[in-house]
Amino acid sequence: WNSETVAVVTGANRGIGLEISRQLAAHGLRVVMASRDSERGRRAAEILQSDGLNVKSYQLDVSDRASIESFSKEIVTDYGGIDILVQVNNAGVNFNKGSENSIEFAQKVMETNYFGTKRVTEAMIPVMKPSVYGARILNVSSRLGRINGRRNRLGDADLREKLMADECLSETLIDGMVAGFLDQAGDGASALNGWPELFTDYSVSKMAVNAYTRLMAGLLSGRAEGGRISVNCYCPGWVKTAMTGWEGNMSPEEGADTGVWAVLLPNQSPTGKFFAERREISF
Ligand code: NDP
Repeated sequence: WNSETVAVVTGANRGIGLEISRQLAAHGLRVVMASRDSERGRRAAEILQSDGLNVKSYQLDVSDRASIESFSKEIVTDYGGIDILVQVNNAGVNFNKGSENSIEFAQKVMETNYFGTKRVTEAMIPVMKPSVYGARILNVSSRLGRINGRRNRLGDADLREKLMADECLSETLIDGMVAGFLDQAGDGASALNGWPELFTDYSVSKMAVNAYTRLMAGLLSGRAEGGRISVNCYCPGWVKTAMTGWEGNMSPEEGADTGVWAVLLPNQSPTGKFFAERREISF
């Protein structure tokens, strides 16, 4: 990695996205800070630029196809292509079992966290530059998205098994899980059965992100030497940001650490892995 390496960070204007941008730029990379709101993005980039870091702000709303399209065009014009994509975009938490919730917000969580990640991945793969060690995609996820998690698992054992089996995993299966959740959520939180107890909509969206990470890693693994793209995800830990209402046991700097470590791993990167605290954890 050097000053020619281009890293795109989505949701870069605050929290962990801002810190990942800062740390990647501090490693000497050129960082494309993609933010939903141009003005907030510009202000965040200025903070890093005033420290002499090589970052530039761009507008990217992952829930808006037109925004993704113009973003792709802009970065191809400005950089020719990219080496690293870190997807941080997150709409927060709303729908919990047994509480009053809005289905509209649950839809937004899925739109931003899962469908947004998918759309941006699809748009960025064609612009990822060939390289000896392979281009890299890292999805910022959460342990709450562990499909086989002890505390927060999916109740449907058959779906769980299918999502965990590489030969059954497909986009249709993941989309189906999300649609199934939204369908039930439409009937109100009290009608929800078999979905994670904690931060339900958020957890389902991160389960989808985790499964999609494994799916894409598998699909891209057949690429020829030079055109390789690794796809991994990571959990930053419980981090003091706007999302947690500034609660947590880690600073955004600490939360960014494993993400930066994962995308900068030397030599050929592993693919289809879930990381936390600089090590692999189970899905
Ligand atoms: P924040 O909620 O503070 O930041 C989320 C970022 O996503 C913001 O920059 C926000 O921009 C952006 N965003 C929201 N909607 C869109 C959109 N449609 N298009 C583009 N960007 C969008 O979250 P954190 O920094 O705490 O979290 C970062 C990541 O880490 C998330 O993926 C989260 O799920 C994950 N994570 C965080 C944990 C924690 O304890 N904080 C724990 C586990 C995982 P805007 O300012 O415009 O809203």
